[in-house]
Amino acid sequence: MIFNNLGEIFYIIHALESTNTSVCITDANQKIIYESSHKDYKYDATIEDMNSFVERLRQEQNAIFRIQLIDCVLTAITTVPVLIGKSQYFMELKQHVSRIKQYSLVSSSFDNLSIHQIKEMAITDALTKLYNRRYIDERLPIDMQSSFELGEPISILFIDIDCFKEINDTYGHAVGDQVLCEVALLLQKQFNKGNGWVARYGGDEILVCLPGCVKHSAKRIANRLRKTIESNTFRALGKEIQITCSIGVQTTLRDSGIKSISELIRMADKNLYRAKSEGRNKVI
Ligand code: GH3
Ligand code: MG
Repeated sequence: MIFNNLGEIFYIIHALESTNTSVCITDANQKIIYESSHKDYKYDATIEDMNSFVERLRQEQNAIFRIQLIDCVLTAITTVPVLIGKSQYFMELKQHVSRIKQYSLVSSSFDNLSIHQIKEMAITDALTKLYNRRYIDERLPIDMQSSFELGEPISILFIDIDCFKEINDTYGHAVGDQVLCEVALLLQKQFNKGNGWVARYGGDEILVCLPGCVKHSAKRIANRLRKTIESNTFRALGKEIQITCSIGVQTTLRDSGIKSISELIRMADKNLYRAKSEGRNKVI
């Protein structure tokens, strides 16, 4: 981007200060020549100012975008090469994305992640690699609404491993983790064709969402999953371990009275509770 003098670039900087956490100019040796923060901004940028800047960025195609962890804050940095008069400088636009404290220890490996990878991490359970609770909270209302609009049912399966604490107590937590991961894998394998999704709700509880699935099909699928877990032999520390799980199933339609995901999950959890109290290794 070419500017005839400092006055021209400051006009742009003032416009950008309003929408970025900080804006800075560095020279070719990365020495900071100028830095301002969002707090300093005095001018409200107009949409025209912003659009003309974005259009110039798009046309020149030489801006570099990266994500970096700075002081435990995930920061999106756009670097734009600028010529002021005849001298080469770089304009850096920094935008805080979020505070992610737990990644502070692994910042060097985190620096090179793409936005896509970061988004994936945000919705993935670190242990089982299933989707996590955040994904459930974001995706389930969307699937519920879509099913209602299409006039179709939606079913969820609420799965809880039976007596999982005993596995931890008998073989140790690491084996418990291993069993949990293998359960996740066994369940995930059943839903790789876009016919449903699997997420870890928390602890040893896993939720399966089956959009468009009627009650009797959901129960049939749940029983298939239950038998898969029951018939699998888990191996750890040279021992063979058998486990079972209980599953609460809940189906809803637009007019069935269940309006929110919390209600839907609560109903499935009630059925799970009944499955537990009726002896475990059951689908209700
Ligand atoms: P129930 O049949 O009633 O479900 O009995 P349970 O022993 O499975 O009891 P509950 O579901 O209430 O407790 C789940 C246990 O799972 C408690 C906790 O010790 C264990 N747990 C939760 N998260 C993890 C984990 O990430 N790894 C391991 N190893 N254990 C976990
Ligand atoms: Mg359990």
